[in-house]
Amino acid sequence: MTGHEYDAIVVGASFAGLAVARQLRGRVLLLDRNEVGAVQTSACGTPLWVPQTLGVASSVLQVHDRLTVRTAVSTITYDLSAVPFCTFDYKAFCRGLLSQCEVRFLRTPVTEVKEGRVVTGDGSFSAAVVVDCSGWRGVLVNGPAGARPATGAYTFGLEAHTPIDDDRLTFFLDRTVIPQGLGWIFPVGTGSLIGIGSYAGLSKLRPALDRYLLAQGTVAAHYHGTYFPNRLGRATVGRLFAVGDAAGQCLPLTAEGIRPALYFGGECGKIVQRVVGGALTLDAGLETYRELVERYRNAYRILQWAQWVTAHAPARWLAGLTELAGRRPLLPRWWPRYGSFGRFGPATVPT
Ligand SMILES: Cc1cc2nc3c(=O)[nH]c(=O)nc-3n(C[C@H](O)[C@H](O)[C@H](O)COP(=O)(O)OP(=O)(O)OC[C@H]3O[C@@H](n4cnc5c(N)ncnc54)[C@H](O)[C@@H]3O)c2cc1C
Repeated sequence: MTGHEYDAIVVGASFAGLAVARQLRGRVLLLDRNEVGAVQTSACGTPLWVPQTLGVASSVLQVHDRLTVRTAVSTITYDLSAVPFCTFDYKAFCRGLLSQCEVRFLRTPVTEVKEGRVVTGDGSFSAAVVVDCSGWRGVLVNGPAGARPATGAYTFGLEAHTPIDDDRLTFFLDRTVIPQGLGWIFPVGTGSLIGIGSYAGLSKLRPALDRYLLAQGTVAAHYHGTYFPNRLGRATVGRLFAVGDAAGQCLPLTAEGIRPALYFGGECGKIVQRVVGGALTLDAGLETYRELVERYRNAYRILQWAQWVTAHAPARWLAGLTELAGRRPLLPRWWPRYGSFGRFGPATVPT
């Protein structure tokens, strides 16, 4: 065996890649073009149980038990205390997960899979199992053609750090700010991340965001943004596993991609470990993972439908729907169910 052969290679060391990698033992190579935790693309809002269960609770910046949804004609506040949310520090979260992994990490860009080998800026590597966790581009699973963000299957989000402090999460659904999309204010301990997202995938959002910030009497310090999928994609492609945004696992409507990446990543990692350990053939491993993801397809379809309604319904309908969703007995039924999606048990902690 040369230094370029591994049991498993994981491409991408963010939420999905780290969730896969922490389940693996053996000769495992984790690849990313950036240092782990160095490039944040998200507002990092997720249920509080997520960092707690993963042993990275020290990354939490602020806990939120209220969510305000503003439409053009209404404001409604939901009580989230049944499943509180939090915002967390991306670098601390990712570094915490990396410290739980027994892998070789290599910082290098990955370009493709060629003749069964993963081609990088530092040579090519081979492994029995390869997992693509490279985000929306899906550098391996989408092949040389690349992902196509213009297909309507991708939302574009742009956000900025501002000095505004607040005591809750806010979503705003206001067509005068963003025609087919949503906006958010996510307080992060000191200040807030304020962003807007276009379900239609429009990427030139900076003027609209700046106008909104000006109207709030604030200015932005740092901007970051990118595409994320809003349609469940393929869990496997040929002999490749795909996890997180590379597999279209970000939830439509709410744009929550962290939790699915961590959940499916953990499950995929457990399957890959069985393949590496010889308990499953690669084909059986691919099939098992595909079946697991397929079980969620209907739930994704429902959220996709809700996203369409949010993007197209008249403002008064939207106001009525958000008000209805906040009423008893509806809220105590759907919120804990939504908030518990992907709840990882202790079994996801590797031994
Ligand atoms: C503005 C914005 C705000 C968001 N807010 C939230 C939120 O509050 N909560 C939430 O749950 N979701 C949010 N999301 C969605 C969430 O960020 C993504 O769904 C999530 O990051 C997906 O995780 P991932 O690990 O699949 O991919 P990513 O986090 O995108 O990670 C992909 C990794 O692969 C690496 N990589 C990519 N290409 C290559 C290559 N060629 N070679 C080597 N390495 C490569 C990257 O460097 C990166 O580390 C937001 C998204 C945006 C854009």
